[in-house]
Amino acid sequence: MIAEKMKPLMANNSAIRTMFEEGDKMRAEHGAENVYDFSLGNPDAPVPSEIKQAIIDILNEEDPVTLHGYMSNAGFEDVRESIAQSLNRRFGTSFGSGNILMTVGAASGLNVALKTILNPGEEVIIFAPYFLEYNWYVDNYDGKVVQAPTDKNTFYPDLESFEKLITDKTRVVLLNTPNNPTGVIYKEDTIKKIAEILERKQKELGRTIFIISDEPYRELAYGGIEVPYVTKYYNNTIVAYSYSKSLSLPGERIGYLVIPSELEDSEFVFDTASNANRIIGCVNAPSLQQKVIGRCVDVQVDLDYYDRNRTSLYEGLKACGFDCVKPEGAFYMFLKSPVEDENDFCAAAKKYNILMVPGTAFACPGYVRLAYCVSHETIVNSMDGFRNLAKEYGL
Ligand code: PLP
Repeated sequence: MIAEKMKPLMANNSAIRTMFEEGDKMRAEHGAENVYDFSLGNPDAPVPSEIKQAIIDILNEEDPVTLHGYMSNAGFEDVRESIAQSLNRRFGTSFGSGNILMTVGAASGLNVALKTILNPGEEVIIFAPYFLEYNWYVDNYDGKVVQAPTDKNTFYPDLESFEKLITDKTRVVLLNTPNNPTGVIYKEDTIKKIAEILERKQKELGRTIFIISDEPYRELAYGGIEVPYVTKYYNNTIVAYSYSKSLSLPGERIGYLVIPSELEDSEFVFDTASNANRIIGCVNAPSLQQKVIGRCVDVQVDLDYYDRNRTSLYEGLKACGFDCVKPEGAFYMFLKSPVEDENDFCAAAKKYNILMVPGTAFACPGYVRLAYCVSHETIVNSMDGFRNLAKEYGL
């Protein structure tokens, strides 16, 4: 009945569904407060109050027919200009409205970008571990994912191996920093080195290679750490941004692409991407949410909410003897499994009502992901379970 291409996706989905169902069963059995569910990347920091106020003000002040109507596929011009100016103020870039394309979150932004630039059979290099949905996005356009390794002590890209993976089929290098699932942020020297390699390879191979920088976690960077703005280091960069995490608005589906003027054939690529937005069925990003962003362009969730969780979980797990790179951004921690098969480790954790996602779901077996977008209480109360779990493995 269903298309061949959907079959592996549905098999994968049923594994995720089984995990959710197990969580629900545990909550029904033990009470929600006694289940420590670190499996979901669903933001839980409070939505800033400015968002609700902006929605009320917009509904009161704006002409409803214009507000709820179609607009240019790229989005409202005034909103795009506000975003461009905000980026320029914060990152020293020089964007205008013509560089910003409003999208239905990062997921659709990535699809629009890939639809725009990827030919069938072309390769997209991604550093593992990574957000596995990328596989489906690339497959939508008949591209091929090529996994590149990272150093397991830091989760920084192994640049020597990376360079060797670039071929005359490479079209895109997909970066995600701050990273899901590791929480690692690439510093300026890493971005510079990736850019140098790509400049050299573009010349050598006589073809354009794009970076797509997937940045839904850009604003979730702790301790004032800088997240370099990739367009400043490499001209052929498209940025995919989302407000799902920075404003806790994942259900509203709002984000944007940045297509800088320095990108090859920038205006034509921008127009093509606007059309791709229509063709993939999004048409335009939700109009009310675009207007909200226009009024709240510099607002973000309380970072301390996640930072407190990050510190407690990291220190708690280290004290138990677990091994983990300290995350600097996003709201994930990637813990080394004390046994080779991390599925066994996840199964053992369930005995203590702790739910985690196996690293295989991020193309990195031997690890587990914990999402710390949970109440602080959940972290504190989970520690007895983690201590017992560590003891089981002789840590
Ligand atoms: N990219 C990464 C790395 C993510 O973790 C997610 C969602 O969790 C997305 C993209 C999709 O985000 P959005 O809600 O903006 O579509």
